[in-house]
Amino acid sequence: MTTNRGRKDVIRDRMAATGESYNVAARNLKAMKDMGATREAVVTQRWRPVDSLDLPCPCGGTCEPGDMCEQCHAQHRHVARYPGSATEVETWVDRYECTGCPASYTLLVELPGRPWGVAETVIQGGSAEEVVRARVFPGVVHPLLKPETPEED
Ligand SMILES: [Zn+2]
Ligand SMILES: [Zn+2]
Repeated sequence: MTTNRGRKDVIRDRMAATGESYNVAARNLKAMKDMGATREAVVTQRWRPVDSLDLPCPCGGTCEPGDMCEQCHAQHRHVARYPGSATEVETWVDRYECTGCPASYTLLVELPGRPWGVAETVIQGGSAEEVVRARVFPGVVHPLLKPETPEED
């Protein structure tokens, strides 16, 4: 029984982190194993904003220094990053929030080599039209696309 324990712990950790069911977490973990880029993508998205602007941003140093706020003249801080396109897998959106007031803005960024998913060209419909469809890596939260799930509907 001890052989399975490590894997189950990993699945439970993921369930706790993502709120997924056991089966979904297990499936996503299996998919993650197949794709080394997945970890990179999750790291690209999941980090905590710094408490002090003197510290380097934990997003990986690929963001810009936040602008000065026009309302309160405090500096904006990089607080979040999420996929910024439904088909361009290296396009992300960086969100900045003012440290002094509720102001915020977003910035579209290209992160070459750090995709949030895989883009595929698929043939669709009777007209055999080619469309680009992106699959989101498990663990990445996409505001427009759902994470990879088996074809249930
Ligand atoms: Zn950053
Ligand atoms: Zn402000």
